[in-house]
Amino acid sequence: MQYLVYLATFLSCLGNVFIIRQNSLGFIIWILGNVVWIYVDLKTPGMAPQIIMMVVYAALNIWGLIEWRKGRNILRPMWEIKENITCADCGTVCTGYRLVKTDNYDKTKDSNPEWRCEHCRLQKLEELKNKGIKVE
Ligand SMILES: [Zn+2]
Repeated sequence: MQYLVYLATFLSCLGNVFIIRQNSLGFIIWILGNVVWIYVDLKTPGMAPQIIMMVVYAALNIWGLIEWRKGRNILRPMWEIKENITCADCGTVCTGYRLVKTDNYDKTKDSNPEWRCEHCRLQKLEELKNKGIKVE
């Protein structure tokens, strides 16, 4: 039983680390921690208040997970498309594309935005991917 208390404590703290790092896996780790706590508390007299708290926490963590997943969709790569641009790489005048925002890339306040043709856009995307920019 004692090691389960340590496991529950460890999971609860580990979940915090993931949430601080904005990783929604933290909610799943917290839910696992909640389940272990509930199990431990059921075997321990006088722990009814904590059981109630852990059930509420588990429900809040499920809610948090759902909300974060919704939010992540908003942060999906955001593209801007514009007619009659001059491609920054090859100079072709055509329909242009510009990657505006991803999880770890933000050109929403770019004062000198660069547009690229369909072909050069893919090359630039590959370049960004190699630099560690999350493009999907
Ligand atoms: Zn081009």
